[in-house]
Amino acid sequence: MKMLVADDELNNRVLMGRLLEAYGTVDLVIDGREAVDAFLLAHTEKEPYDLIFMDIMMPNMDGHQAVQAIRSREAEWGILSRHEVKVIMVTALDSPKEAMRSYYHDGCTDYMTKPITKQKIEHILQRAVGLPTASHPTATEE
Ligand SMILES: [Mg+2]
Repeated sequence: MKMLVADDELNNRVLMGRLLEAYGTVDLVIDGREAVDAFLLAHTEKEPYDLIFMDIMMPNMDGHQAVQAIRSREAEWGILSRHEVKVIMVTALDSPKEAMRSYYHDGCTDYMTKPITKQKIEHILQRAVGLPTASHPTATEE
């Protein structure tokens, strides 16, 4: 599984990287602009991401803008919604308004509130890609 983490805070990137490395490869970027660039590069290289963890509050381009850019590019390419990259919004703001905007306006797949924990990551992975746990890999796992 190929994953991308976009977060402007170093400690969050490092933590996410460590929690996710058991499940596949993880690329770390610092803002929405880099996230969109990484998404495009992965497609150019024919190795698209399976999962993107997108912080909302970031400089240059925030998570909302980045997901909208990714979804509009997928629409241009004619990618069906079931084949869209799974995007998990990650935010410190546990607000229903932010969540609604992320789902219905941006088109994210799931939503996770900080602080980031191993349990939350496992829960998200179960929901998003059906992975049990890192210690019990499935036969179909790459
Ligand atoms: Mg942030």
